[in-house]
Amino acid sequence: MDGNISYGLYTFIVKIASTSVFQVSLLIVVVMMLAYHSTNLNDWCTVVAQKNVLLVIAHPDDECMFFSPCAQAMAKYAENVYLLCISDGDYHGMGKIRPKELIKSCKFLGIDRIEIIFNKFLQDDPNANWDKKLLKKIFRDRICQHRINVIVTFDEYGVSGHANHISLYHALNELIHEESDDCIAQIEAFALKSVNVIRKYIGIMDIIWTILLKGNSYVCINSFGGCIASQLAMRAHASQFVWFRRLYVIFSRYMLINTLERIG
Ligand SMILES: [Zn+2]
Repeated sequence: MDGNISYGLYTFIVKIASTSVFQVSLLIVVVMMLAYHSTNLNDWCTVVAQKNVLLVIAHPDDECMFFSPCAQAMAKYAENVYLLCISDGDYHGMGKIRPKELIKSCKFLGIDRIEIIFNKFLQDDPNANWDKKLLKKIFRDRICQHRINVIVTFDEYGVSGHANHISLYHALNELIHEESDDCIAQIEAFALKSVNVIRKYIGIMDIIWTILLKGNSYVCINSFGGCIASQLAMRAHASQFVWFRRLYVIFSRYMLINTLERIG
C-alpha cells in the first residue's frame, strides 16, 4: 500500500515537473535569483547605501508601478528614504482616496516618510506640463531640509509618456545644472530609464537587454520577496487595480527591474 502511495506521488511530481508552465516558472525563478545575486549587475544598492535619498513621483501608484525595485532597495540600504508625490492623482476625481492608497502601498515597500503636495497648479493631468519654476522650488526646499544626497525621478520620456512625469525630469535636470550652492552641488541625481514597449512587457526576460545595454547605468533587480511586496503594494491601490493593471503587474519589467541613469 505504502509502495503504491509513494509511486503515485512520484508519478504526480514527474507529471507536474514535465509541464511547460512549471519549466518556464522554474527558469524565471532561477534567472531572477542569479540576477539578484550578481553584485556587478545589481549595483543600485551601492549608490544609495548609507545615503539620504529622495524619490520624486507624480502620482500615487507611480512608486509601485514603475519604481518598486528601486524604492525597495532604497528602503533596505539607504540611511533615510523620503518619498515626495507631487499630486493627489485627482484626474478621475479620486483625489481623496489615492493619497491614502499611497500610504498603504509604501508600507509594503518599506517607506514611511511620505509627503504629498496639494497645489492647484500641480494637478494630475496627462496633458499638463507642470511649471518648472514651482517644481524646482519644491525640490530645492526638500533637498536642503532633508540633506538629500541622492534624488531619483522619471527620465525625459517618463516611462509612459505622461506629461506630468516628464515635467519632473525637466525641472530636476534644470535645477542641478543651474544651482551651485552647497545643498544642490553635493547631490547625485538619477532618472528611471524608459524602455520600448516590447521590453516593457516581457517581464524578467528583459534582463537580457538590461545586461546588453547597461553601459554606465545602474541596475536594480527585485528579490523574490521584493516581487511579492511589489504586487501587494499595487493591490493597495484598490481604486486603480482594474483589469489592465492586473495584466500590467504580471508582465511589466518595471515591477522586477529598474535601470537608473545619472542626470548631469
Ligand atoms: Zn504617474
